[in-house]
Amino acid sequence: MKCYLCGSANHHKREGKVRDNPNIEILECNECGLVFLDTQNTDEKFYAEGNMHNQAEIYKLTERTDFVNDMYLFNKARLDFLLDKIIGKNVLDFGSGYAGFLLQAQKFAKSITGVELEEQVKPIYEKHNIPLLRSLDECKGGGHYDIITAFHVIEHLKEPIDILKQLVSLLHDNGKLIIEVPNADDALLTIYKNKAFSEFTYWSPHLYLYNPHTLKKLAQKANLRIDFIKCIQRYPLSNTLYWLGNNLPAGQKKWGHFLDNELLQRAYEDTLASLGATDTLIAQFSIS
Ligand SMILES: [Zn+2]
Repeated sequence: MKCYLCGSANHHKREGKVRDNPNIEILECNECGLVFLDTQNTDEKFYAEGNMHNQAEIYKLTERTDFVNDMYLFNKARLDFLLDKIIGKNVLDFGSGYAGFLLQAQKFAKSITGVELEEQVKPIYEKHNIPLLRSLDECKGGGHYDIITAFHVIEHLKEPIDILKQLVSLLHDNGKLIIEVPNADDALLTIYKNKAFSEFTYWSPHLYLYNPHTLKKLAQKANLRIDFIKCIQRYPLSNTLYWLGNNLPAGQKKWGHFLDNELLQRAYEDTLASLGATDTLIAQFSIS
């Protein structure tokens, strides 16, 4: 199996398991460091039918108010980070899911549009008057959008280079493409080497996992200008410590109330960022 990014056939098996399919192996390219699964078993139908949310136990939205809360906070952090860029602008969110980000962006942007395959999200968009497209082919012609966002979407794509090119073609000349992905070099995998986390975090719909280096390479392959690639930490120190102490997720709900605070979070994030080992990457690309 050749590396999607550099074409090398040299890779090694990464420690860990794909949580919903233990037969899939996790590979890491020896040349460029791209992490990828040896089997790609998701297609458009998989997403349209809502399998991403229906099948995975941890994403049963109706029963998991904590998940909804997490997503609210993650989307709020995104809005805080991007607010200056979206005020009075035409915003397109690719892979917009349950419209979590768009609902928060709605009162600031000139226009908002979601692109989402999942069929069951439609009532949310109707209720809040948000235009919903089912594919990029339905988008308004080139040059319409000021900001296109894709939060935790690119790692699901079989052909991310083609999609990045298509996304950028929809931007106007000064438009920006904002990409957020999980970091393949998360400290729990690469520094602490927590076995339980390595058997939890990999998931069959995440076909490729990027680190700062491979995300840069991906953007270069798509002929994009790289404005920045930033390491950010979504989960607080309590989450890390809980993994290390109890081998379980969601430690911020157990220990966060006495451990976490803004100062600690900033220091922890800065430290992890200096090591390239945060849990998340956020990047801004534009037309080169
Ligand atoms: Zn490679």
